[in-house]
Amino acid sequence: MSRSTRSNYLRAWEGAAGYHVGVNDPVGSLRDDAALSAAAHAIREADALLIAAGAGMGVDSGLPDFRGTEGFWRAYPAVAKLGLRFEEMATPVWFKKDPHLAWAFYGHRLHLYRDTAPHAGFSILRSWAATKQRGGFVFTSNVDGHFQRAGFDPGSVVECHGSLMHVQCMRRGCGGIEEASGIEVRIDAAVFRALDPLPRCARCGEVMRPNVLMFGDGGWDPDRTARQEARMEAWLGTLGRESRLVVVEMGAGMAVPTVRASMEHLVQVWGGRLIRINPREPSVPPGRGHVGLGCGALEGLRALEARMGA
Ligand SMILES: [Zn+2]
Repeated sequence: MSRSTRSNYLRAWEGAAGYHVGVNDPVGSLRDDAALSAAAHAIREADALLIAAGAGMGVDSGLPDFRGTEGFWRAYPAVAKLGLRFEEMATPVWFKKDPHLAWAFYGHRLHLYRDTAPHAGFSILRSWAATKQRGGFVFTSNVDGHFQRAGFDPGSVVECHGSLMHVQCMRRGCGGIEEASGIEVRIDAAVFRALDPLPRCARCGEVMRPNVLMFGDGGWDPDRTARQEARMEAWLGTLGRESRLVVVEMGAGMAVPTVRASMEHLVQVWGGRLIRINPREPSVPPGRGHVGLGCGALEGLRALEARMGA
């Protein structure tokens, strides 16, 4: 994957090899009372909240996270038959070589994300952010549009890998990014191919593609994401250094570490405390009162909510 946008606080992830994983990290399970209390206290006392989410966030809504080839193939048996791993299916190459296959995959996901309701953890996060004097912001690698669906202000969301709720023309420079709200993709499930008509550009007639950063993707239009990142930079710029910024990160693993590494970089260069909720990889950088909770997103958010009210 490559990215063509960069910003001050979010540039570290390409150097993600330097990951800190150590046995002395303050990592706790939900049975670790001290870790849970420390995290709840930090969130309650924060005056600015940055909410960061990776693929694991959607799992509690019932969405597949494509973790590992086996997991991906369970979600997409038709792609398993083609022998394509996620990284081989999620590339812009298919929109040129075989757009009916490409739109079977992305059209299915578009409808799946539309038809799936964001889980209760989104509301918990929204209620926390609403009480913060300096407000909140969302940074997500998920392309499902679920933070906006859950009522977050679209002006306070960064979708660092783009959004499946938006499309762009395959012809470079043809036009801008459009909402996918009018797009319906019918799919022949037996052969896993989209039926005609495919989504096409109103200007030039070329096939449209999702405005999602794919693997090996040199054609992704980063404009929308760059504007979102600029708004987040501006928000961070309004926070004084004395602000108590807390980052609550959920379901952001190491396989595609954009969110994880960006948040580690941010708390390193900006400051703030990191609360990491992750069932398999909860380790956090040393020092500064960062806390890792080894559980799923919804379970962790509910436990924190309960502890904050206690
Ligand atoms: Zn076009």
